[in-house]
Amino acid sequence: MIDPHGIPETETFVTHLECGYEGDRYEADTIQNLSKAGKPLLVRYDLEGVKKALTKDVLASRAATMWRYRELLPVRRKENITTLGEIMTPLVRLPAVEKSNGASAPIIVKDEGRLPTGSFKARGLVMAVSMAKELGIKRVAMPTNGNAGAAMAAYCRRGGMEAYIFCPEDTPDINVREIQLQGAKVWKVNGYIDDCGKIVGEGKGPMGWFDTSTLKEPYRIEGKKTMGLELAEQLGWQVPDVILYPTGGGTGLIGMWKAFNELEAIGLIGSKRPRMVAVQAAGCAPMVRAFEAGERHATRWENAKTIAYGVRVPQAIGDFLILDAVRESKGFAIAVEDEAIQSAQEEIARDEGLLLCPEGAATYAAYRKARADGRIRADESCVLFNCATGLKYEMPAATRMLDRHKPIDWAAIAAA
Ligand SMILES: *Cc1c(COP(=O)(O)O)cnc(C)c1O
Repeated sequence: MIDPHGIPETETFVTHLECGYEGDRYEADTIQNLSKAGKPLLVRYDLEGVKKALTKDVLASRAATMWRYRELLPVRRKENITTLGEIMTPLVRLPAVEKSNGASAPIIVKDEGRLPTGSFKARGLVMAVSMAKELGIKRVAMPTNGNAGAAMAAYCRRGGMEAYIFCPEDTPDINVREIQLQGAKVWKVNGYIDDCGKIVGEGKGPMGWFDTSTLKEPYRIEGKKTMGLELAEQLGWQVPDVILYPTGGGTGLIGMWKAFNELEAIGLIGSKRPRMVAVQAAGCAPMVRAFEAGERHATRWENAKTIAYGVRVPQAIGDFLILDAVRESKGFAIAVEDEAIQSAQEEIARDEGLLLCPEGAATYAAYRKARADGRIRADESCVLFNCATGLKYEMPAATRMLDRHKPIDWAAIAAA
């Protein structure tokens, strides 16, 4: 029988890992967390080799999943890939929104809510867990605001691994429940995600687990990188003028920036880059504060508060990678209020029939704000990332009732 997952058999091209801060070299194919400087490690490839192997013709024959880019991904042995069907996610154009904003270039949502476990965390975690499996790890732990934990729980079961997950106590219940149902051990903790991260760090000794926190292992970013590979391919090997990305730990933004550089190196795109816009919630905006202050590192945001849980990250270990990418791309960082997030979500659901998650809606709120202050022009093509299915979040109540035993007031129905 053919492989129903359509994962290509191919060579892999990883040469080594590199500290994202100091640039020093580390061995691949062995368990690694942070560099000696305590910074994230990035995966490096033999890009000349990839260039020969991963051509447009080769891609044309492959299944529409993130594994089509296998030469640019780290897993060496196919049997270690713990896939649940990581499809290429659709680009959904927003004609009504373009019209109401007077935009003369497309506004497009990349809808990541279609992925397994309902969020783009699937891309990062399928890679981290597959690599953990490849390296013989049996027990992993992570702090999460919800979606990452759900993805890790699911992929760990596929990989036959044990998962220990710690989330802030006010994490949406649906996430905590799905984590538990998917076979992980989960605790709610009276603190923020970085407080949960400390527990994971402290447990390494007594529990012997591997820390899969955002950017504390090298491979989640490689999974998230596929958003950039996929986007460029879907746009006919072009990049948009602007990408608006809801930024928490920043893996996706950093990953896409890496993807564009790798795609240029293998000759699939040119030197044009999108302006990368890091979108945060006004109640937790450490990157925006650092960007505006001209700093390369961000200080912790105290008393973080927002309905967009996925971006409620007070402190990010990859802060300098996020800020470097935003600056190099001539983009910016921008914060939006929760009320603007809610009205953005309502507008796109009502006018386009597309239900975004709050974090995804934040990118549209940021678009509107940046159009108003002139930082985005009407003629710039924009891609908004919807990072999770809107169905995982609380929605406004629907309260109309109809008594079928009474005469129906059609005029009232027409007026509703
Ligand atoms: C994790 C998450 C984010 C932030 O993504 P990063 O790449 O970690 O910055 C945004 N939205 C949702 C729904 C998430 O789950």
